[in-house]
Amino acid sequence: MSEKLSFVNPTANSPWGTYLQQVDRVIPYLGDLARWAETLKRPKRALIVDVPIEMDDGRIAHYEGYRVQHNMSRGPGKGGVRFHPDVTLEEVMALSAWMTVKTAAVNLPYGGAKGGIRVDPKKLSQKELEKITRRYTSEIGIIIGPHTDIPAPDVNTNGQIMAWMMDTYSMNTGGTSTGVVTGKPLHLGGSLGRVKATGRGVFVTGREAARRLGLDLRGARIAVQGFGNVGSVAAELFVEAGAKVVAVQDHTGTIVNPDGLDLNTLIPISRTPAGAAGFEGGDKIPNEQFWDVPCDILIPAALEGQITAERARKTAARLVLEGANGPTVPEADDILAERGVLVVPDVICNAGGVTVSYFEWVQDFSSFFWDEDEINVRLDRIMMNALHQIWDTADKHKISLRTATYAVACERILMARQERGLYP
Ligand code: GLU
Repeated sequence: MSEKLSFVNPTANSPWGTYLQQVDRVIPYLGDLARWAETLKRPKRALIVDVPIEMDDGRIAHYEGYRVQHNMSRGPGKGGVRFHPDVTLEEVMALSAWMTVKTAAVNLPYGGAKGGIRVDPKKLSQKELEKITRRYTSEIGIIIGPHTDIPAPDVNTNGQIMAWMMDTYSMNTGGTSTGVVTGKPLHLGGSLGRVKATGRGVFVTGREAARRLGLDLRGARIAVQGFGNVGSVAAELFVEAGAKVVAVQDHTGTIVNPDGLDLNTLIPISRTPAGAAGFEGGDKIPNEQFWDVPCDILIPAALEGQITAERARKTAARLVLEGANGPTVPEADDILAERGVLVVPDVICNAGGVTVSYFEWVQDFSSFFWDEDEINVRLDRIMMNALHQIWDTADKHKISLRTATYAVACERILMARQERGLYP
């Protein structure tokens, strides 16, 4: 009955194509709410902006930026901003939709949104990075706001970029609006625990999943793809719990050590331009061999579409923890399920970041800041409860954790949609 969207042309494994298949899989479990399901398959609002800046050498460069508000039935839009040369409208749409599902899965009072600029930030000077951030913020300023849509960090964005975004929005509106973005530096209304929150959430959901699987974390072998803010923090927490990290892949290469990589040396090196490949305490192997490394837990914490059908057939892992958004294509999901590999899906596994973003936003409005213990205890509780609820739903219907997460989340989203009713 509804017309297809004209502005995307998804394929089976592209981000939006992946998301659409994930929605299709949950429809049979939505009961009467299925009537509203089409709402999940189209973004509420998508803004494309031109971002012109004067470069240090005097040239004028134009970049393409996006902000997509996928759904706001349960609250303001929420979701990060990504700076990456591969960003497209289609990718941002999928990422915004995954935010809708994610915030509903952990029951935060938000909808889903996402933004991005198609740019390689490594090629920009600090001054150019500030200019592109400010101009982009000003352009999307017509749709963001502390009560409408709240950006946050994502791939290649950080606290400094959030500070510029907050300042630009505040300059344009008058006053100081700390609640317009989360993931800010501490003295600008940021929250303790935010930087490590996504990695911590991956650990908490992984710990609970391992417990239910009967997989002992002591001595468990972990392989991590993507060693930024998510992968490296999760790796550290698993090592604290007795596991060992046997393989790490980042954009510079893949290193392995069956006895465990020394994270105290590896993490600082991975933050330098040399990257993980600059680490001496392991063997370098070709990137594709990362997927064959004997391991118990696989943590994809980089970009979308990494676990393809072929890689899903190869992995030795029993447990996959999706630190990244959209790392597994639907066909690979089926192969992993057939092989008895449990996948804790992105929309629950990496929800720790947006959960502490929510804490930050609440603290900004009350101007009362919590200590780190309180944040971590609350984060742990929310993630644990969400995981167990989803696990029980999966057991009840004999479905994957992903479809169970969508069932729990989509019921909340569509119930809100139905109760609000169609306007006019
Ligand atoms: N970019 C993160 C995510 O994908 C965090 C979003 C937020 O804190 O709003 O979940």
